[in-house]
Amino acid sequence: MSIEKRRILTQDEKEQLLQTNKNCYICQSTLEGYEPTEIQFDHIYNYADGYPQENSNFAPVHSSKDERKLNCHKSKGQKSPIQYREELRILKRLEEVKGLGDLCKNAVQSVYTISKDNKTIIINGTTIPLYNQRINNSDNYYFFHEVETKYIENDEQIQLRPLEPKILPLIFNLKSSVQLLPSLGRLDQNSKTIKVFDGQHKAVAQIIGNNRDYIQCIVYVHPKVEELRLVIYWAHTDGVQQKYKKSHIESKLAAIYSQKIDAYRHRIGNEKAPFSEDVILQGESKAKKTQFLLSSIVEEVKSSSDIISNYFAQDKKEQKTKPILWQSLEKLVSIFCNLEPVSEPSESDNNFRTEEIKNFSFILEQIKIYAIDNKWDPNNQEAINHKLSRTYFYKTSFNNWVKALEEAFRFAYSQKVGKKLTGSICYRSEFDSETKSRFSDITKKLFDHPLWVKEFQQNEIAKANVENAVLKIFESEGLDYIYLTKL
Ligand SMILES: [Zn+2]
Repeated sequence: MSIEKRRILTQDEKEQLLQTNKNCYICQSTLEGYEPTEIQFDHIYNYADGYPQENSNFAPVHSSKDERKLNCHKSKGQKSPIQYREELRILKRLEEVKGLGDLCKNAVQSVYTISKDNKTIIINGTTIPLYNQRINNSDNYYFFHEVETKYIENDEQIQLRPLEPKILPLIFNLKSSVQLLPSLGRLDQNSKTIKVFDGQHKAVAQIIGNNRDYIQCIVYVHPKVEELRLVIYWAHTDGVQQKYKKSHIESKLAAIYSQKIDAYRHRIGNEKAPFSEDVILQGESKAKKTQFLLSSIVEEVKSSSDIISNYFAQDKKEQKTKPILWQSLEKLVSIFCNLEPVSEPSESDNNFRTEEIKNFSFILEQIKIYAIDNKWDPNNQEAINHKLSRTYFYKTSFNNWVKALEEAFRFAYSQKVGKKLTGSICYRSEFDSETKSRFSDITKKLFDHPLWVKEFQQNEIAKANVENAVLKIFESEGLDYIYLTKL
């Protein structure tokens, strides 16, 4: 895509703009008292996105270097002025709002009649089907509707939570995505109003962010407040659905990543086309790129061996039977693998992703052989060997030896090739047999170090809650990469 060069405004054009715009486009306060050098003329829509460069797409913005004055141009950062102005509007609005109650103060009473057969309700002039959840011979009627905000108010009797800071991302999310679930309300028999008791955040987000006058709702008709309160309390405590496990999130991310690859291939019309990670992950934040690559490496290892499913605990419960914490897997990947997107196409000889999986799996295998096999025995918690294995995998202990192990591999590999190794250990041609045997010896030496079997050190490691405490033990016992690589 060719981008037009950013247009420079003439003096005349600037003056013309100042004639019609007396206020800063972003904060909308006056430009009076600002010298020409303290005013920038920004594109309202980014010209880089192909928006026109006409005068009408320019607006004056505060841009003073004087600390006592405004610099809206600087504070907007990379955002377009129109986007940043919307953000400011929302933030300002939120200052006045503590909850739905501040937006919907006193609801207008609803006028409604329920049909004799309880199949419909006519409410505020609209006829809507009525549904019934019949439980133990009692009826529980409800309807779905987009309710005009003037008819709703906050449910002070049931409402559980005040507005939380996460409202802000929710507002922005709902500006570009559909709302999946409606708010919940009840039609109160006494006040004849609709009281919203769940999904207030969504309602607030729609009203403030999207200026909506109608809120999607499920409304219960004349429910018993006491019963509803119990149900809601249960739903927010014991009934809370389990959060996604870290390992599930990684599978999902990996799936999204491979969808991105499929979409790319589809776009260029070749289902088997090589791709470059650079292109696939273009536009993602650095953190997201890292996550995508990490999760796809984990998925690749999972599909080529069962070491992850056998020895890495996905949650607290599995920690009883599997020695390695899930977060330690992430640490292993981030230390041994390349989490930067590479530009070499997937089929290129200079793309080492396939070899990387083989190399990384080899390292995992060595750890299994020397730290788990014939040692880890969850059925015999008090066995000396089991305790030994457990000591290796405490987080504070693991995080230290994994670093020493990486340093040792790096040092040994550099020695072998005769120059300093750059980049991650695993992202290169498949380790040859000489390297493998050297790495295997180093790993063995690590787990055979005498410090691990000294009971008082085991106890110290078990007690340690900071990494540094274990590092001190390593130092005093002489466990470092020099020791590991000594021939
Ligand atoms: Zn301003």
